[in-house]
Amino acid sequence: MSQPDRSITGGTRVAGVIGHPVRYSKSPLLHNAAYEAMGVDAVYVAFPVLPEELGAAVHSVRALDLLGLSVTIPHKEAVIPFLDGLSPQAERLNAVNCIAVENGRLIGHNTDGEGFVTALEEQFGLAPLDLRCVVVGAGGAARAVIAALAGEGAADIAVINRSVERTALAVDMGTPAARAGSPDDLPSADLVVNATPVGMGERVNETPLENPSFNADQLVVDLIYEPAETLLLKQAREAGARTANGSGMLLHQAAAQIALWTGKTAPVDVMHSALSGR
Ligand code: NAP
Repeated sequence: MSQPDRSITGGTRVAGVIGHPVRYSKSPLLHNAAYEAMGVDAVYVAFPVLPEELGAAVHSVRALDLLGLSVTIPHKEAVIPFLDGLSPQAERLNAVNCIAVENGRLIGHNTDGEGFVTALEEQFGLAPLDLRCVVVGAGGAARAVIAALAGEGAADIAVINRSVERTALAVDMGTPAARAGSPDDLPSADLVVNATPVGMGERVNETPLENPSFNADQLVVDLIYEPAETLLLKQAREAGARTANGSGMLLHQAAAQIALWTGKTAPVDVMHSALSGR
């Protein structure tokens, strides 16, 4: 992995991601590659922030004149009381993945859904309009995806999740297209999304769906990006479906944050290369 060849001066701004843990975050890789290519005099670092230090960390955006902060687990919801306002998406999702300074106010945004939809369009030329979708999971990532799919006119969004309470909350994000679903919805889906952590870490040899029936007309997206091909994606590929992992969403949610902070379009090609180690 190449390091940015930039000199840090008195004018260099600092941006970063707050979370816990953040040591393995790919965001520094993406943001620093983009800043370098854009000629933005800034560096992006990972800040491990404990829950009890969250308020102090958010105040530092103003105190230290930071360019902006990305926000990740476990702070996406807890950060809200420390902000001056929310974008409509962040308000709807009750989750923030990015803080921007706008006219001196700290505004929370959520670029996850936009990142997902942009990745679909970039990788497959596919727009959500009229799609029949299955989303597995009902956590923060699922809710962002469901709201974005519904906002872009998906015809039907069947939500399959373990806990019934969280299913209802996720369905609320996508009304009127979203509803509680079941594995019976799979065969007729155009798009299937795994938004659970099943398939990574300790669950790398598992899938969130038992004996799923995929077909060649489907696109199956796993929001997991490590491993690059989860067991679910392997099953989908072997059934002839088109597949994608979560790296596209990761990249495009970061690109949207860079646009918010700099007012400029992020260099997606450069970010792709950085992510794939080229
Ligand atoms: P989260 O808020 O903790 O939600 C996790 C969801 O997965 C919940 O709906 C949970 O079900 C379900 N789940 C967890 N363990 C399960 C199991 N063993 N069996 C069945 N369901 C299970 O997490 P999140 O932030 O939404 O993240 C979900 C996944 O998306 C993670 O893998 C994360 O890495 C990925 N992600 C990717 C990106 C990207 O840019 N590519 C962005 C965000 C997240 P219950 O409701 O029943 O607990």
